[in-house]
Amino acid sequence: MTRSLLLPTLPVCADEVTQGYFSRLGHFHAGVDVVRFCGYFGLRPPDLRDGTEEFANALVAVYGAEADAVDRNLLRRISDDSFLLRGVTLSLPVLLRTTVRFCPDCVRDDAASHPELGQGAVRLRWSWLLRPVVRCPLHVTSMVECSTRDSAKAFDLPTLLAHHQMSATSAPPVEPHLQGKLQSYVLGWLDGRRDASAWLDKQTIAQGVKACEMLGSLIADGPEVEIKAYTEFDWARVGHLGFDVCVGGGDAISEALIAIRRMSGRRSGRTGPQAVFGKLYRWLEYADRAVDAGPIRGLVRDAIQNSFVIEPGELVFGEAVDRLRVHSVNSLKVKTGLNPKRLYRLLRKAGMIPEDTNQEA
Ligand SMILES: [Zn+2]
Repeated sequence: MTRSLLLPTLPVCADEVTQGYFSRLGHFHAGVDVVRFCGYFGLRPPDLRDGTEEFANALVAVYGAEADAVDRNLLRRISDDSFLLRGVTLSLPVLLRTTVRFCPDCVRDDAASHPELGQGAVRLRWSWLLRPVVRCPLHVTSMVECSTRDSAKAFDLPTLLAHHQMSATSAPPVEPHLQGKLQSYVLGWLDGRRDASAWLDKQTIAQGVKACEMLGSLIADGPEVEIKAYTEFDWARVGHLGFDVCVGGGDAISEALIAIRRMSGRRSGRTGPQAVFGKLYRWLEYADRAVDAGPIRGLVRDAIQNSFVIEPGELVFGEAVDRLRVHSVNSLKVKTGLNPKRLYRLLRKAGMIPEDTNQEA
């Protein structure tokens, strides 16, 4: 096969997403945006967007490199809602598709270090496609976002920068509480590391991220917080907190849930699991794909069964409960016919009601 190599060759960098590299080629060699550049090779925008075989083959032909170099950082669609990047399956909750995030300092450095490449100097890092990554690991500044309705054009950072008239001015440093442990975990995962915690490492990256975020939100902001109003920085903040618990595994999470249950009883006497576990409960109970939530689901279900009166046959997260695990003073009253005040005193004396629980709860 005859290859029409584009010369001079523009080196592909290890930190950039392959589609972004293709977009750089278009700016450098032809001075056109990525969609027009696709047309030169008979590629349709969905080929670029989904990282199809046609796209990869065309790029190997013009780049003249081994397919491996192209393949490694190619974002490739593998199903309706999941993609493959660097050997990791990423579902949409972890992946940005029409929001483009970038570090202004990196963009400025790109342009300054390769002025001869013009707009082809700016690299779209693969790490910028990951939703939990909100600060630049290199410059420790907040990333900046712009959005496009077209997920093919989302790979064309130079054009987006021009359209949004965004300049490469420094973003403010991230706030100190955004230490970004969840972000570091996600970046490590994409680099092939599986050494954060056995509990996190045995689930998918989307499951681990969501578990950290939802648990962290409950711990930091309580059950009634309006998570729809969260910014990506809020998610990073609560994800960071939740990561600290989740990294300890199932026992640490169960302990945290029990502590939340106790605090909640003390504060308000609220008793229902939905009132106590708030958005974490609602996510597991009502989300379309709650089954995919991973091991956090079983832990929250256990915590509910161990601290609320759930009669056999009642549903928790769509599954019937097999046996009653705990009684309340009220449910014991029904079973034993004893006066609730007397029951409360007896149980308290027997050490079966924690000292710090108020009588209402
Ligand atoms: Zn940077």
